[in-house]
Amino acid sequence: MTETDVKTLEAVVSVVGVAQPGLKPAAKEDEPIKVGVKEDLEDIKQRIKLFLSTAMVISLNTPARSIIEGLIKRIGLFDEKWIHYTHVQMQNNMFKDAFKKVQKSDRVVFIPHCLRDVKNCKAPIDEDGYHCTKCGRCVIGRIVEECEKRGMKWYMCGGGTQVINIINRTKPKAIIGIACYNEIMLALEKLKGSGVPLQAVMLRKSGCVNTEVDLNEVIEIFDQ
Ligand code: SF4
Repeated sequence: MTETDVKTLEAVVSVVGVAQPGLKPAAKEDEPIKVGVKEDLEDIKQRIKLFLSTAMVISLNTPARSIIEGLIKRIGLFDEKWIHYTHVQMQNNMFKDAFKKVQKSDRVVFIPHCLRDVKNCKAPIDEDGYHCTKCGRCVIGRIVEECEKRGMKWYMCGGGTQVINIINRTKPKAIIGIACYNEIMLALEKLKGSGVPLQAVMLRKSGCVNTEVDLNEVIEIFDQ
């Protein structure tokens, strides 16, 4: 990171307040801040979003990864998860204006089936993925309800090739993807140059089964 960028970052951080005493104690390098309670997580998310909305209007000469690492360090967090979270928010910001221009009925939502209650889910499956019956056993039922309220088409599938096949077939004008960090990055790579804006919600807990997502974050993206 260049010296100018460091100064700019510090100025932005000071506007946002993340490194100021009394708001969130800055941890030493070898002493990561303890976060765990919901209020802490919400606070950090809001600070990251505020930081990015301020930083995006300033031109930096440094690659995104370095900017994000700089930010995370200044907040006092050294967790890779927050670097990923910030990277996703940054990508969302880049596509937000184009995304907002697409009416809700032309947006398609991809929901990962790893969010299902895998032991009890009876959702039927075909080439379009699982068809949630909204039995109420997992968060997917709620996400599906929110999609349908807004007239948005949704798919519950495994990500990767299946998502790409559905995109190629249905040609959505905008996409909302709920996924782990790696899947989001893969989707961004595949969509590069397509002109289709993506807004992503990163899973709060990733893995192959019993993953978790923050429903409020999903709804926030739906209502953009
Ligand atoms: S809400 Fe949907 S996805 Fe979740 S367990 Fe029920 S049918 Fe399966």
